Amino acid sequence: MRRKLVAGNWKMHGSHTTNAELLSGIIGSGPYGCDVAVCVPFPYLSETAVTLARSQIRWGAQDCSKHEQGAYTGEVSVGMLVEFGCRYVIVGHSERRQFHAEGDQLVADKAKAALSRGVTPIVCVGETLAQREAGETESVVKRQLSAVIHTLGHCAGEMVVAYEPVWAIGTGRTATPEQAQAVHALLRAQLRAATPQADAMKILYGGSVKPDNASTLFGQADIDGGLIGGASLKASDFVAICRAAG
Ligand code: PEP
Repeated sequence: MRRKLVAGNWKMHGSHTTNAELLSGIIGSGPYGCDVAVCVPFPYLSETAVTLARSQIRWGAQDCSKHEQGAYTGEVSVGMLVEFGCRYVIVGHSERRQFHAEGDQLVADKAKAALSRGVTPIVCVGETLAQREAGETESVVKRQLSAVIHTLGHCAGEMVVAYEPVWAIGTGRTATPEQAQAVHALLRAQLRAATPQADAMKILYGGSVKPDNASTLFGQADIDGGLIGGASLKASDFVAICRAAG
């Protein structure tokens, strides 16, 4: 049985004060029966690393550069993340695809850069509402994942995949467990065709996961935890979601 992972995506939220309260609430309610991580804004990596150092909670970033170093103003390399003890980095979040025009190949290159330094990429895929209504969900998520699979090659089994329907992110509109499971099963099948590790890989669901819908979502055969946005900013909600995962 796959151990579940619940990863918080703080997005561009936080302050020294609120981060300390949030992390203390998460640490204080552990241990958890699943893997737990928080993906924080870059400026807070250092304090997060210090605060979580003696806990079982892991931490990560929300993006990285595909480059190792160089004249790339504003970018942050995976090598830098490693210096802060990052275990995860989110790549291909729909907000990066939408607001920063990140395409499939760039996302794949970022995932490769992460794995090359031992950081696990959480690779986000997901369709927009228009794409779902046009019956394109399967082709969109397969295209997005395919680029990463091909770029990672024999390392593909080391990534975490997150299915995040764009229409469910931050909208309060969650995919039904059946809708989510159907896509997760497609992604698992695609991974099986690519790597012998497919059945051990985690495929997270993200999109308005809350304490009251988490256990039903996490009870689906191919849903191995969640990528949590809004509900990861309130300790009691995030803790409840982690408990629903195991
Ligand atoms: C996300 O941003 O990855 C996300 C899933 O957000 P929310 O939980 O707020 O929908």
